[in-house]
Amino acid sequence: MVTKKPDIEEKNIQEELKNEILSKESKREYHSSKFQKIETQVKESLKQQKTDDTLRDITIWALVLWSSDVHYEVFEDYVVVRFRIDWVLVDIFRLNYKEYKLILERLKYSSGLKLNITDVPQDGKYSMIIEKRDIDVRVSTLPVWNSENVVCRILDNTNAVIDFEELWFFWTTKRILEKAISKKNGMVLVTWPTGSWKTTTLYTVLAELNTRDKKIITLEDPIEYSMDWVIQSEVNEKRWYTFHTWLRAILRQDPDIIMVWEIRDRETLETATQASLTGHLVLSTLHTKSAADTLDRIINMWIKPYIIASALDTIVAQRLVRKICTHCKVEKVKTPEEQAIIEAMMKDIWMNIRQAKSIKLYEWAGCEKCNHSWYSWRIWIYEIISLTTKLRDMIREWATTQDIIDEARNGDLITIKEDWILKAIRGFTTIEEILRVI
Ligand SMILES: [Zn+2]
Repeated sequence: MVTKKPDIEEKNIQEELKNEILSKESKREYHSSKFQKIETQVKESLKQQKTDDTLRDITIWALVLWSSDVHYEVFEDYVVVRFRIDWVLVDIFRLNYKEYKLILERLKYSSGLKLNITDVPQDGKYSMIIEKRDIDVRVSTLPVWNSENVVCRILDNTNAVIDFEELWFFWTTKRILEKAISKKNGMVLVTWPTGSWKTTTLYTVLAELNTRDKKIITLEDPIEYSMDWVIQSEVNEKRWYTFHTWLRAILRQDPDIIMVWEIRDRETLETATQASLTGHLVLSTLHTKSAADTLDRIINMWIKPYIIASALDTIVAQRLVRKICTHCKVEKVKTPEEQAIIEAMMKDIWMNIRQAKSIKLYEWAGCEKCNHSWYSWRIWIYEIISLTTKLRDMIREWATTQDIIDEARNGDLITIKEDWILKAIRGFTTIEEILRVI
């Protein structure tokens, strides 16, 4: 398949349309009557000096609002408490210095940080049981000119493993991944930009593979979720051990499946490829944006192409995007400009533009359920490359990444953009969200 590249003029029109749609989008701010409620509750407990209640309330509310992090940001006259909801930072309420001092002391005390140290960053953890759920919160402080900023990452294990079916794969991509993980050896890389919940994908895949006839060993940093029958080890870099020395020790433990939390350097990648070549299924992650980026990164780590060609099996590039709120989703009539941009997007992914008419856009309504943000929860979008014989040959022969991707597209590769647009067409997410992120 060959597509004509859009000329410059067409590109400019697309840019203008994109900006116009996005200018409306950026005006949507999260707000909710719940935020007021949180503020009242927190300030009441602070007034009574019951700071353990305060911390508990903030943690509970963060969970209620599906937040991944709580940020305490210090400004000249006040401190803002912000939650990251669907990875957008949302201002919840403000504190004065006196109030913040109380919370800060409680946070540091609960997470085992030194109260008297305020001029270097510290990190620790506090745990709570909330409605029978074990909630761990990782706390990190950063000294700023007049106080300390704090960011709390909520590690809620309830969603660490979900059903394989809930990972939002289309059946074609799901089939490719299932095939890859059913092999005895090979390397499956999940790649991700920050905040795309690779944890959930990896743990869910591991849960799928976890049977008593196999030995699964993981190398994590840190262990975020404990799994029955899986041998989980945590790398201890403080004692001069690194990922790859640790990985070598794991290989001597006769595993069938190895999960390496993250490939950060050449040595780890080299050991992981050797593990794959010597009959192990290796799952790991790399911090890259796409399948093409991943190939580039691996080659730039100076791993010989013939080794990559034999060791690597599948690359899953994933991303999280916001899911449209089902409670306030209302279909709207498209303007000619919006129709034009949809057609341009479809042309971009080689889809028949006649289908563009059937793509729906939704009116921004917003409701209490989604904190007037229009979005609620999230979905994954994917790009999966499975190496065929032809692709392996191309890698061995030093083909360019672009040629490899083009060849893969002739096969069954669906790019992240295509997967996304297909999910937007089905009304799971919005065209605006695609424009915002891509
Ligand atoms: Zn809503």
